[in-house]
Amino acid sequence: MEKKQFQAESKRLLEMMVNSIYSQKEIFLRELISNASDAIDKMYYRSLTDDSLSFEKDRYAIYVEADKDNRKLVMKDTGIGMTKEELEANLGTIAKSGSLAFKKETEIEDGHDIIGQFGVGFYAAFMVADKVTVITRSIDSDQAYKWESDGTDGYTIEPAEKEDVGTVITLHIKENTDDESYDEYLEEYRIKAIIKKYSDFIRYPIKMNVTVSKPKEDNEDEYAEYQEEQTINSMVPIWRKNKSELKDSDYEQFYQDKRYGFDKPLEHIHVSVDGAIRYNAILFIPEHTPFDYYSKEYEKGLELYANGVLIMEKCAELLPDYFSFVKGMVDSEDLSLNISREMLQHDRQLKLIAKNIKSKIKSQLKTMLKKEPDKYEKFYKAFGRQLKFGVYNDFGANKDDLQDLLLFYSSTEKKLVSLSDYVSRMKEGQTYIYYATGESNERIAKLPQTEMVADQGYEILYFTEDVDEFAIKMLRSYDEKEFMSVSSADLDIETDEKQEEETNSEENKKLFEKMKSILDGKVKDVRTSKRLKSHPVFLAADGEITLEMEKVLQAMPD
Ligand code: ADP
Ligand code: MG
Repeated sequence: MEKKQFQAESKRLLEMMVNSIYSQKEIFLRELISNASDAIDKMYYRSLTDDSLSFEKDRYAIYVEADKDNRKLVMKDTGIGMTKEELEANLGTIAKSGSLAFKKETEIEDGHDIIGQFGVGFYAAFMVADKVTVITRSIDSDQAYKWESDGTDGYTIEPAEKEDVGTVITLHIKENTDDESYDEYLEEYRIKAIIKKYSDFIRYPIKMNVTVSKPKEDNEDEYAEYQEEQTINSMVPIWRKNKSELKDSDYEQFYQDKRYGFDKPLEHIHVSVDGAIRYNAILFIPEHTPFDYYSKEYEKGLELYANGVLIMEKCAELLPDYFSFVKGMVDSEDLSLNISREMLQHDRQLKLIAKNIKSKIKSQLKTMLKKEPDKYEKFYKAFGRQLKFGVYNDFGANKDDLQDLLLFYSSTEKKLVSLSDYVSRMKEGQTYIYYATGESNERIAKLPQTEMVADQGYEILYFTEDVDEFAIKMLRSYDEKEFMSVSSADLDIETDEKQEEETNSEENKKLFEKMKSILDGKVKDVRTSKRLKSHPVFLAADGEITLEMEKVLQAMPD
């Protein structure tokens, strides 16, 4: 028999788990059931796409059994099982897809937060068990294996007997201690309640033998206790439920169960479309920017189900890049199960669904902006940059989709405002939407160019992100009003031209020529300007590219 040590990070997590005085130990059951459900998903999918396997829907179930006398809680599934190598890889190391890998060292110190919010998968079992035994047989193997561990001292793997494909997990429930009781996890009513609370929407029946009290057959007046197999969960997946039946907390629970993010959703969108295309979707806008969001590692996509069967975990085709922050799932009856990734890209149904989803997200965001501006601002702070990249990357092709979702800081309102807000406040005769660029709002406000335009009573939008001005250049205009940098040479603001001409007279020309020659080709021209108030001099840009854009362009790698 082989005895192996857990990997370092798994060990740390296990210790944390075992020593945790966390009150929500009950979530261990949710974790194991969701693993069983995932395993059946895989099996179901395999049997539907592989002709050599027969299809017996009734076979797919999760069984839970409590054995009080021996302090054992047993979970059995008819899922895909694990090979020896998979056992090793999946249970010997911390779940690859689990939450720990994403959490920073410091945040782990006090484990309450991560266990409570996201669970940690299989290892959660060690919160209530001092020994866990897994016996499993994979669809790809004739040999079954047994994995066993006490959670601290490594684990063993050895061959075992098991007739059918699937997995049986036995938890040896801890003995009570002075300040902690574990008995409840062997109580029928308690187990039922935990399953109802966390796993009601699991799509396969979770079955349990429960004791029921019924009238006796031979004597109706007397009651006796019988064992009866019951299905505990309602099995209707949340996305097939009626919106009116669901509370915000149900969506939050789903978001967490699905591990869409480590935060709470800021907003959910529940879509049920029944027409030329038919699909159900639950989409989420996360509350926070994922840590890898603006990096190459981030993968966009939605889970894709074909009539209730998961066929792809991250279907990128369903989301435009500028909405890549959206999480969630889509289930459609109109998709074929064994559709390949290549075929999906050209699938007409999928394209229609993607288009439909895009417009749902857009309109939900617009509504949020109108009705819940504070919430929208929160969203915008997390993902606004992506919207601006969206405008920029597609050369303005998404202008109509995105321009009304953009916000910029306003010099007069002292907060983020939309372009339509700005336009509605434009002065009579004002032709341009003025903006100024710089590192921060404070610095922009102090620019001589800003000062002058603001002094004339114009509202100015402050651009503090690199992408801002590039995005605006792609938009060109909003509501037929063009954008104009306050530092461009031609501002279309009325100034006293006669005076400007005067100061540009022959006499001053010599001085300017001298200045130009000292600056030695660094500037094109030196002139007087009426645009200055408290500053002696400023740099003005001539042409399309402003000084700030030039800085960004020069900083870009070739
Ligand atoms: P996650 O579910 O996030 O991947 P877990 O720690 O819950 O992380 O599980 C780790 C892995 O172990 C799963 O991804 C799966 O491959 C495997 N696994 C766990 N339980 C089962 C099961 N009942 N049947 C088959 N495979 C399982
Ligand atoms: Mg899991």
